[in-house]
Amino acid sequence: MEKKVIKGIPVSPGIAIGPGFVSDTDAIKVPVYRITSKQIESELDRFEKAIGESKLQLLDLRREIEKKLGSIDAMIFTVHIQLLEDSSLRDKVEAKLRDELLNIEAVIEEVIAWFSVQMEGLRDSGLSDKGADIRDVGNRIIRNLLAREKNNLFERSGSFILFTYELFPSDAARIDVSKLSAIVTEVGGKASHAAILARSLNIPAISGVSLAKLPQNLGETMVDGREGVIIISPTKADMELFESKGRTFLQFKEKLLTQIHEKSVTQDGTPIEILTNIENVEDINPVDYETLKGIGLYRTEFIFMNRNTFPSENEQYEIYRSIIEKVGSDKEITFRTIDIGWDKKLPYFDAPEEANPVLGWRGIRIVFEWPDLFFTQVSALLRAGAHGRINIMLPMVTNLEEIRKAKDYFKEIRGDLLKRGTPVSESAKLGVMIEVPSAAWDIDNIAQETDFISIGTNDLIQYIMAVDRNNARVAGLYQPSNPAVLKVIHKVIQAGRVANKKVSICGEMAGNFNYTQLLLGMGLRRFSMAPFYVNGVKEVLRSTTIADAERVAGRALNMKTRNEIRDYLKQMNPLNMANAN
Ligand code: PEP
Ligand code: MG
Repeated sequence: MEKKVIKGIPVSPGIAIGPGFVSDTDAIKVPVYRITSKQIESELDRFEKAIGESKLQLLDLRREIEKKLGSIDAMIFTVHIQLLEDSSLRDKVEAKLRDELLNIEAVIEEVIAWFSVQMEGLRDSGLSDKGADIRDVGNRIIRNLLAREKNNLFERSGSFILFTYELFPSDAARIDVSKLSAIVTEVGGKASHAAILARSLNIPAISGVSLAKLPQNLGETMVDGREGVIIISPTKADMELFESKGRTFLQFKEKLLTQIHEKSVTQDGTPIEILTNIENVEDINPVDYETLKGIGLYRTEFIFMNRNTFPSENEQYEIYRSIIEKVGSDKEITFRTIDIGWDKKLPYFDAPEEANPVLGWRGIRIVFEWPDLFFTQVSALLRAGAHGRINIMLPMVTNLEEIRKAKDYFKEIRGDLLKRGTPVSESAKLGVMIEVPSAAWDIDNIAQETDFISIGTNDLIQYIMAVDRNNARVAGLYQPSNPAVLKVIHKVIQAGRVANKKVSICGEMAGNFNYTQLLLGMGLRRFSMAPFYVNGVKEVLRSTTIADAERVAGRALNMKTRNEIRDYLKQMNPLNMANAN
């Protein structure tokens, strides 16, 4: 392949060099099963929805390629859109569906195969690529209908750079991450769960890259996750440059590691709690254990992925107990109750199709409809908690009634366990994540009725800015330094302090060195972040005083635009490092 430079959104820092492979170009395994005549309409609805989704994706790709490469290169997407809208495709699918009573994916596959053969026959009339185009369109519709399966790249030996349309948290839980030297996706912003995972696994990642024109085997490829640059078939000079960038990044990480035993305290001696976010206890590497003060966010939903059924109370108890043993019974662990829905799906939990899943059935909303889920998990947590120091935290809380209801459940669960004579945690507190604007606005009331508060800035920013955190196209509007975001965070921190409740931030903002002074100056004394950021944040803390941080926060809160604030915070960052964020 010729040298090719691609620019995307940087989502996880680091340099990787190695063979690049594009997944999702492989034939998709389409399930075939019978349906009843009653299901015809719902299968047609699914078909229409997948067509709509495919069209939006193609429009996006066309716009993106037009911008980057010009309208001639983008024409292919116009052809694909026309094929998608062709009524003969729809008519044939519908007729076959009614006739054969098979699931819609299987019907589409048959119809596409038929069309593609017809079109291959038109070779002489200059339409020879139409067969490939219709297969491409068909694959896109089917991919949108199915939970996308990754191909068997992971059976390869050696590590590689994965290019894939989208990485779901459940994929990441399933795949062999030790083989991934970098991840490049078409979909997903900086705060997407895939990006968070990449960062917590220390894997460089870039999103917002169109895979449409890439062959499956890319050969030698380089990725700079901090700048969002990919070079396919690099020259010798590119290689040297990337290798030297890689060395600088490594030196930066090593420099921070030398400070691993330094205290987490400001220059003027104020102790600050730095906790860690964890998705899987196995991911904590031995050196991080040395700095580990506690877990501020354990995303328990990852325990539920990568399996075929819900774990029983006893299974969960064993898992939580082993986590407590591994982390240390003297260290506080805040377990967030299962936060599934939207982009975090379980293969065995049949969630309904929703038009706007990010505004839909997520987090605590699911457990209120499925209280068994909550009762089983909280029972297991309280039992395991008898062997350590745990807290329990509720995700996606929208209002006070939900908190009251969860507290009632909590009391009932505790009471039941005690009646059974089971030892339970004496000290477990029940706290809430503030990640929905309504909860943030009502924080004065909420703070009175919760044991602690943790601000989930990833979702909070998404909902304040009305920007899907997974949508690369609007990633520019996902703005942690927007004045509105700052004001809301400030309000929540202050309300927590007034109510004398502990407040932390466990969203990605807590680990971004550019925001450390700002958050400290707003009154935050408890941060929770991916292990990679702990030493850097501690270094910023040691280089600033509370008074300086308050000045920075005061000025930033008075600024009117996001750019002004962002530039100011960068400029004030006392760590003049090859910023790893
Ligand atoms: C958040 O929303 O900020 C958060 C920490 O939760 P998650 O990223 O898992 O949604
Ligand atoms: Mg969240």
